[in-house]
Amino acid sequence: MSDSAPSPKLDFIREIIADDLASGKHDTVITRFPPEPNGYLHIGHAKAICFNFGIARENAAVGAKCHLRFDDTNPEKEETEYVESIKADVKWLGFDWADDLYFASDYFEFFHDCAVHLIKQGLAYVEQDSPEEMRAKRGNVNTPGTFSANRDLSPEENLELFARMRAGEFKEGECVLRAKIDMSSSNMNMRDPVIYRIMHAEHHNTGNAWCIYPMYDFAHPLEDAHEHITHSLCTLEFENHRPLYDWFIEHCPVPSKPRQIEFARLNLTYTVMSKRKLLQLVQEKLVSGWDDPRLPTISGLRRRGYPPEAIRHFCKRIGITKFNGTTDVALLEYDVRDFLNRESPRRMAVLDPVKVVLENWADEPLAEAVIPNHPQNPEMGSRKVAVSNEVWIERDDFMEDPPKKFFRLGPDRYVRLRGGHIIKCTGYDKDADGNVSLIRAEILPGTVGQDAPEGVKCKAAIHWVDVASGRDAEVRLYDRLFTVEDPDDAEGGFLSVLNPNSLESKQAKVEPLLADCEAEFACQFERMGYFVADCKDHVPGAKPVFNRTVALRDSWAKKGR
Ligand code: ATP
Ligand code: MG
Repeated sequence: MSDSAPSPKLDFIREIIADDLASGKHDTVITRFPPEPNGYLHIGHAKAICFNFGIARENAAVGAKCHLRFDDTNPEKEETEYVESIKADVKWLGFDWADDLYFASDYFEFFHDCAVHLIKQGLAYVEQDSPEEMRAKRGNVNTPGTFSANRDLSPEENLELFARMRAGEFKEGECVLRAKIDMSSSNMNMRDPVIYRIMHAEHHNTGNAWCIYPMYDFAHPLEDAHEHITHSLCTLEFENHRPLYDWFIEHCPVPSKPRQIEFARLNLTYTVMSKRKLLQLVQEKLVSGWDDPRLPTISGLRRRGYPPEAIRHFCKRIGITKFNGTTDVALLEYDVRDFLNRESPRRMAVLDPVKVVLENWADEPLAEAVIPNHPQNPEMGSRKVAVSNEVWIERDDFMEDPPKKFFRLGPDRYVRLRGGHIIKCTGYDKDADGNVSLIRAEILPGTVGQDAPEGVKCKAAIHWVDVASGRDAEVRLYDRLFTVEDPDDAEGGFLSVLNPNSLESKQAKVEPLLADCEAEFACQFERMGYFVADCKDHVPGAKPVFNRTVALRDSWAKKGR
C-alpha cells in the first residue's frame, strides 16, 4: 500500500494543477490546510489534510508546499488547546508543514488595511442598521434588497466611523463594516456582506489589541493571497461564496491571486462530524473526551488503534469529486483491518473465560508453548508462552450439546490448544445458575506440533491463557456510537439515536507479554479482533487496558443491520 504516490488517474483538481504547471501559469504549487482552532480534527479533516499535503508532496520536484494555517479570526470559540491538538494530529497522520505554520490573527493589520482600502475606493461602508433591519432590507432570492441610509456615506465619513469602531467607541452590534457590492445580486452572498464586526473579546493571540474582527468570507481570500497560495481547496458549501472570494481578491491590494476550487466533503455513516455536535457530546459527557475511541476525531481514532497508514489509504481510495455523498464507515474499517492483518503480531487473550483442567497433565507436561507471532509472516518470529495444567478458554469455544459442524470443544470432542496438545473433553461442572463453571479434559500425549493420531477428529485450534501465569486486563469493546446510518437526520435529534451499548467493558485474561506491553502496542488477539493498549489508562504490568480497534469481520454486515 503506497499512499504517497498519486493515484494513476488524476482527480479534477490535480488535473487543473498539472495543467497550470504545464502551461506555465504557475511554476510551483502552494496549498494550505486552514482549520479553525475551535475543536479537535475529525476524519473529514483527514481527507482535507491528505489532499492538501498530498498535492504538495506529489509536486515536491517544483518546490510545492502546504501551509498549516490556523484560521483564528473569531476570539470567542478558539483555544490554545485546540491549536496544539491540531498540530499533533497533522503530524501523527504523517504530514509536515516544515516552516510554514501561520496564524490568520497575525494578519489582522493587513485585513484592516484592506478594509480601509475598500472604504477609500467607495467599496465599503459602516452600517448602523440593527441586525434585524439589515436582514429585512436584504430581500430574498426573488426580491432584490433595499439600500440602507448608510450606503451613501462618503469615504471620509466611513473612514472616520470605522476608526471609531476600531477605537472601541461602539458596543457590539451597534455597527458593522459592509462591502458595497450588489443589493440585487441573485447570489445572496454578494448583497453587501458584513466584513467586520465589533467583538469586545480577548483573543488568544492578540489579547485586547482589537475589538473589531474580520468575517470569514473577507479574511479567508486575503489569508490565501497573503501566503501566495496558488490553489485554495475547500469543500462544496463554499461554492456560492466563490464570487465573493474573487471580488475581494480583485478589489483589495493583495500580493497574489489564489484560485478557490471546491470538492465534496467526507460524510460517514453512523457518526456525526459537525464540530458543534462533537463538542456537545464532549461537554455533556456522553463520551469520555475529544479522544473517546468512539468518536470520528483523529485523536479518537488514534486511541482506538486506527493506524495513520490506513486512514491515508482510505482518504486516497475515496478520492476527490464534486458530488456530496455519504461513505459507508465499513469501508474505513476494511482498510484498518486490511492493514492490521498484515502488520499486527498475534497474542492470546480470553475475553469471556472459563477454566479447563487438564487432568492427565503429568503424562506429558509442557513448560511452554512456542507460538508464531504471525501466521503468514515468519519474519515476525515466534514467542514462548508458559503453560500448565489449567488454562482459560473462551466460553463460546465450548458447547454442552454441540451440533455436528461445531469443531471446537464439547463432551468427548477434541480440539487443539494453539501451540500445544490436542485435548479431549471428559466432563464439566455447572454452577447454581446453570452456567458451565469448569471443564475437565485430558491431553493426548505426543500431539504437540504433530497431526492428530488415527481416529481422532480434531479440526480446530483455539486460543487460551495459562491460569498460573495469565494476567487480568480490562478490555473495552466499542460499537458504533449511533444506532442509525444518518444520526444528523434523526427526528428526535442526533442524541436520540445514541447507541446505549456502544461501550462494553470486560475483565479478560491475557498472556503475560500483553500485560507488560507498552501503551499503544497494537496486536491481534487471536480469533477475537485487533486491539491496542490504551494510550491513557494502560499501565504496563500494573493495570493493563486494551481497546478493541476493530473486530475480525464486519459483524454489522453479517447481521444485515
Ligand atoms: P464546522 O464543523 O464548524 O463547519 P469545519 O469542519 O468546516 O467546521 P474548519 O476548521 O473550518 O472546520 O475546517 C478546516 C478545513 O477542513 C476546511 O478547509 C474544510 O473545508 C475542511 N473540512 C472540514 N470538514 C471536512 C469534511 N467533512 N470533509 C473534507 N474536508 C473537510
Ligand atoms: Mg468550516
